[in-house]
Amino acid sequence: MKITFLGTGAAELYPGAWCQCDYCTYARTHGGRNVRFTSSIHFADKCLVDFPADVFNKAAHYGVDLLGTELLLCTHPHEDHFDPQMLYWRYKAYGADALPESERYAAPCARFGELPLLRVFGNRGVWARMNAIFENREVADYAMDFTIPQVYQEYHHAGVDFIPMIASHMEGGERGMIYLIHAQGKTFLYATDSDTYVERTRDCLRAHKVDAVIMEATFGEVNKGRGHMTLGRVWDEVRFFEENGLFNGEPQVWLTHMSPHRTPPYDLLCPMLEGTCVRSAYDGMTLEL
Ligand SMILES: [Zn+2]
Ligand SMILES: [Zn+2]
Ligand SMILES: [Zn+2]
Repeated sequence: MKITFLGTGAAELYPGAWCQCDYCTYARTHGGRNVRFTSSIHFADKCLVDFPADVFNKAAHYGVDLLGTELLLCTHPHEDHFDPQMLYWRYKAYGADALPESERYAAPCARFGELPLLRVFGNRGVWARMNAIFENREVADYAMDFTIPQVYQEYHHAGVDFIPMIASHMEGGERGMIYLIHAQGKTFLYATDSDTYVERTRDCLRAHKVDAVIMEATFGEVNKGRGHMTLGRVWDEVRFFEENGLFNGEPQVWLTHMSPHRTPPYDLLCPMLEGTCVRSAYDGMTLEL
């Protein structure tokens, strides 16, 4: 299964858009893999985890076609993970294709042609943000549907089996979700945003094996509080996976969702991780499982 990292940065981007600290200056000067935009992945040909505002820019940049997307798993409604505006443009009024050309463009219609159904999964906070774009129109006219899943239940769509699990990350009194994903014979965990995994999530993880873990490392070397991983807490989770024998084959952990100022830029982070099973992902990286 091919996974493409469309972005690996946190909300402030890397370098921080307005920041002149040492790390941000390094990333701005050296460019390349040191530069990170908001986090999302494309996987198994037609599936996404998260939908930030720049997702189409990044997909075009890395040669990923989003037209046939059938599954969107949303972790939580923070704006660096979910911006529904580009979903709004899927709207096509019922019957618009049958109108004469002259009338068609005046009809409330933002696209032409058929799309496969896009199934979106997310919590109530994601739904609230998404609902705002529908303007009381039929959801079906966006060729979409939306599910607020039950955590720790297994779902199937677009050839993917997945289990939403509770994340240690709050928004508006509601916790986000991380996803255990199985497709094309491979399994991986996508876990951003989340601090140390809660016990129910650990119990669920213990019952499965993974080929890879994609884990956030937002706070890097500085503990700025709870809600995100530090590098120290990343190692605690790696030990959890190793001690419980949860890896299929060689352990591999890929870090994403890095915040500037506190997590060293890619060039400086890689030597720190050398010789371990933990590696830094970067924007545009493809992972073949
Ligand atoms: Zn985030
Ligand atoms: Zn968040
Ligand atoms: Zn900075």
